Amino acid sequence: MVINFNQKTRKILSIIVALIILVGGGIYTFKPKNSLETSKLEAVKNIDRYTIEAIFDDESKRLMCNQNVEYVNNTDKDLDKVYFHIYPNAFSKKEFAPFEKEEMKKAYPNGFNEGYIDIKNILNNGNKLSYEIKGDKNDLLEIKLGKNIKPNEKISIDMKYNVKLPNSLGRFGYGDNTINVTNWFPIACVNDDRGWSLKSYESLGDPFYSDTSDFYVKLLAPRKYKIGSTGKVTNEKFDSNRGFYEIEAKKVRDFAFILSEKFNIDKDSFKGITINTYNLNEKLSKASTKIAKDSIEIFSDLFGDYPYDTYSVIASDFFIGGMEYPMLVMIDQSLYNEKNQFLLEYVIAHETAHQWWYSVIGNDEINEPWLDEALTEYSTVLYFEKKYGKDVGDKLIKTMEIQTKHHLSENIFKPSTQYKNSTDYSLNVYTKGAVVFNEIRNKVGDEVFFNTLKEYYTKYKYQNVNGAKFVELWNDKGVDIDKIIREYK
Ligand SMILES: [Zn+2]
Repeated sequence: MVINFNQKTRKILSIIVALIILVGGGIYTFKPKNSLETSKLEAVKNIDRYTIEAIFDDESKRLMCNQNVEYVNNTDKDLDKVYFHIYPNAFSKKEFAPFEKEEMKKAYPNGFNEGYIDIKNILNNGNKLSYEIKGDKNDLLEIKLGKNIKPNEKISIDMKYNVKLPNSLGRFGYGDNTINVTNWFPIACVNDDRGWSLKSYESLGDPFYSDTSDFYVKLLAPRKYKIGSTGKVTNEKFDSNRGFYEIEAKKVRDFAFILSEKFNIDKDSFKGITINTYNLNEKLSKASTKIAKDSIEIFSDLFGDYPYDTYSVIASDFFIGGMEYPMLVMIDQSLYNEKNQFLLEYVIAHETAHQWWYSVIGNDEINEPWLDEALTEYSTVLYFEKKYGKDVGDKLIKTMEIQTKHHLSENIFKPSTQYKNSTDYSLNVYTKGAVVFNEIRNKVGDEVFFNTLKEYYTKYKYQNVNGAKFVELWNDKGVDIDKIIREYK
């Protein structure tokens, strides 16, 4: 995610970068390698499988859904219950709404409007399972399995539910242009070496944590809408007023889709990856496609291949900069500004980097937000360095150092919930985080730095990591990353 505060500070950056690019004309030093193999999805054992049938009712902005989950017990203990996040309930009451107080007006320009999930029943092979709605925001679902499932054993869980979308310009909801269907279905909570991760939909930062799974989604929606989604449409049919879509998304950790009547869709491709941009300002369609393509190209070269066959960048009614989902990112439509394309480029590059750090490699975003955000913010700097030259990257880092010089004693490794506000969070986790990564690079040299990031990506592909595993990888190479980081705490 790119949060609000950064938009302001990045205006300063944008002037610097615009000047450098104008004067230098831009140096596109990056050359595609022809030796990269067509990427293959490595086998991931025992992943959950979601099959969802959803009918979208335009008038009531509701989804009527049937969902089956083949849930796998990936722990080493027997399980008699499982937990799912039911994030739409975080929008059911004003006091739950996952926004800071001063953001509420932007999130709900027409006043608070509720969103929720209404669970109708939960079954296993036709037998009812008992369940309870829990969590600080009624956004957790505890399902009692009525039996024990052993390690590696699967259980089939059927759910019937309705989802009401709020009139909200956050990640989940709808505005005048787009309908943002994100974090909308019951998704299994992660059960890692600390046990179940049962955190609610927090206001600050991205509060998500999930396991790589396979998704098969059937969607019926009014024909007038164009749809951008995670995965690939494998079949579509239309009658006079409805569109029916079958979508497949394998080895991803979430499934999102955005609808709009107004999308101007532009396409390009890079090594077999179809790159789609869904634009609301047609004049910037080509520019956004170019940025998306350059981002995929640059990060594939730096970290390892983008492993999916499509990537979509979607202009949305979304007021918080940008937001990442697997194979798809939402970008605040107000950033598509012909006079200042720097912010648009910055945000698209940032969200695209999350395809490596969040989507392919996952982490607990509440407990260790630095792990994906600091690395993603530094990857954004690398994008500008590779595309426009080292001096542009250096200027960005210099500006970040100045911005964070009063925050040097603060800890960037706290959970997102322990930061005072989005400014405090953004300056520490993103900005100072990027400076720290630059410091690591300076200390170890480019070869060790980029090889270690490549190794990290290959080793933990489709898995969830934590800070300890990340640090261990560097320690194994004789790099005392702790010491480098401590100096910046
Ligand atoms: Zn981010």
